[in-house]
Order: sequence, then C-alpha cells, then structure tokens
Amino acid sequence: MKKHHTYQNFLWLLTVVLVIIGTITITITSVASERANVANLKQEVEELASIYTQLNEQAQELEREIQETVEMGEQLEKKIAYLTFDDGPGESTDAILDILNEHEVKATFFVAGYMVEQYPNQMRRMIQNGHKIASHTYSHQYEYIYASLENFQADFQRANDIIRTYTGKDITIFRHPGGSSTTVGSPGVVNQTRHWLTEIGVNYTDWNVDSMDASGHHVPPQIIIDETLAQAELQPNYAVILLHDATAKPTTVQALPQIIEGLHEQGYVFEAMPDGIDFPQHMLPQ
Ligand SMILES: [Zn+2]
Repeated sequence: MKKHHTYQNFLWLLTVVLVIIGTITITITSVASERANVANLKQEVEELASIYTQLNEQAQELEREIQETVEMGEQLEKKIAYLTFDDGPGESTDAILDILNEHEVKATFFVAGYMVEQYPNQMRRMIQNGHKIASHTYSHQYEYIYASLENFQADFQRANDIIRTYTGKDITIFRHPGGSSTTVGSPGVVNQTRHWLTEIGVNYTDWNVDSMDASGHHVPPQIIIDETLAQAELQPNYAVILLHDATAKPTTVQALPQIIEGLHEQGYVFEAMPDGIDFPQHMLPQ
C-alpha cells in the first residue's frame, strides 16, 4: 500500500516536473519567437525608413522641377529692360545711383577709363550698389581709337587695367564709342575691332532703344521719356536702352524716374547685363 503511495507520489512529481519543463520550453520558445519578431519589426522599420527617405528625396526633386518650370515660365513671360549708361562716371553718377537705388533697379555702366580716374568714388559706389561695370574704352577719342587696330587694342587694354583695379575682373562686355557700326575712323578698322573683340571673348553690344539723350545737350526730359517708352513698347523680349551718365546731359537724370516707372508699367523687369548673352549688335554699313 505504501509502495503504491510512493509510486503515486512519483507520478505526481513527474507530472509537476514535466509541466514545469513544458512551461519553461514554451517560455523559451516564445521569448525566442518574440526576439525573432522584434528583429523582423526592426527590419521592417528600417525598410520603411529607407522608403520614407527615398520618397522624401523624390518629393524634393519634384518640388525642384516644379520650381524650375515655374521660373522658366516667368523667364519666358517677362520682358527685361537693361538700362545702360555710357561715358561715366561723372557729375551725374550720384544722382543716377540714388534714383536706381530708390527704384531697386540694377543697371549697366559703360565707363570710360579716363573718367574712372577722375571719379573713383562714384566708380566704387556703382560697384557697391551691385551694378554691372562694362567698358567704353579708356580715352573715348574716336580719332585715336579708330585710327588703327593697334591703337584700339592699346586703349582697350588701358581701360581694362584700370577697371580691373576696382572690380578685380577683366572686362567681359564692351560698347564702342558711337556704337559698333560707327562710320568715324578709317574704313575697316571698326570691323577689325569687332572681330578682335569676338576673338578674345569680349561681348560688344549696342542697343535697341535709343533714349535720344545724346541727340544734343539739354534734350528736354519729356522727349527722352517719350522716345524711350515708345521704342521699348515695340520690343518683344528685351530692351537695351542707351542712356548717358554725362555731366553735359543732366536731363537724362531728370527723365530717369519716369522712364523706370513707364517701363515698369509696360511689364518690364530690370536687370544688369549678365555675361554670356548675345545683346544687339548693329549691322555695319555696307
Ligand atoms: Zn560714349
């Protein structure tokens, strides 16, 4: 009887032990599978994170493309006015710069080297105000510069040296005194200068709007305004407007605010001349 009791105890104990072993096994298995789950989840999170990063990059790329397309559209739509001032710096420069500042307009100054020597402060102000500096020779002496290509080159170099001391850069844009189709000087020399400038990578440019401010001294401001706005209205894409920064032409300064406002009303935006664009070049007389 006692033996039977012991056997029963043993069975009982065995059951308990088996249950404990089973529980431990289940626990170990479930911990292991839990660990595997965690590892899987981690991997999934990592995959989602990388998908998120990729999508984010794609979204940014799309945003950039949209922005570029919008800008391109705006670029195609807008008409650009390039105000260009020849012959300075001089007595009118400060007043011109004040008006440009007031209207938040950037312009291009075709400076003459000998004037830069006389008005260094005005030259510095042009640069500080963010305007483009282009060359209009050193001497502005037609008889000298158009007498031979050698004269022209020497004069060009002299202007370049002076301008570079202010801007730190070589000249990239140039305008001939009298324009690139001037008939002053020996026949053929002007044409040679055109070829030479192109060869050395300097963009010479004329204009497609003549403000007529150089048609005499003290041209009435209203004539300058009317001429400029009438010609600019005919230009489909851009207007390169010939103006003068000259002491002898104070009416240009008087006309300038209304020119800017009028061009603005015609839908123009104002820019300084960038490098690398072909601006109007007049045909040589045949
Ligand atoms: Zn000039």
